[in-house]
Amino acid sequence: MVKTRLEIITAERVVYSEDVDIVVAPGIEGELGVLPHHAPLMTMIQPGELRVRRDNVEESMFVSGGFLEVRGDKVVVLANVAERADEIDVARAEAAKHRAEERMAQPPAQIDHARAEAALRRSMMRLKVAEKSRKRRQRPV
Ligand code: ATP
Repeated sequence: MVKTRLEIITAERVVYSEDVDIVVAPGIEGELGVLPHHAPLMTMIQPGELRVRRDNVEESMFVSGGFLEVRGDKVVVLANVAERADEIDVARAEAAKHRAEERMAQPPAQIDHARAEAALRRSMMRLKVAEKSRKRRQRPV
């Protein structure tokens, strides 16, 4: 079966590099599905879940923005920050969510609302990715 090479790269490391069947990424204008032989494309991505199917196995990752490029048989994601589901520290994401919620409960003039909202979104997306992966592992085979 034809595959697409997916590389997710941050300034620090290569987070993911595999041949996959489909990539569903959080594009800035909504979810973006990329199958093999997709037309060349370049788009910004927003903080969210990036899903992959590889040989009938589904994987989820968290990406916190950056760019996605489709060229030839390759999809390259240059992400500000990216974590595979098993790398997500759930307690840390819960603490970040709690902090962001507390900030947003303050009077608007006293906080940078957009910043708190962005932090809240990152934490909620991390928790979603981690939870999905936990449920997948529990599923009977
Ligand atoms: P926090 O307030 O907990 O730092 P954040 O959303 O502000 O969260 P980022 O700026 O997105 O954090 O990421 C900073 C670095 O910390 C990145 O390297 C990222 O991979 C890592 N990181 C942040 N939160 C987590 C988490 N819950 N699990 C694993 N790594 C995380």
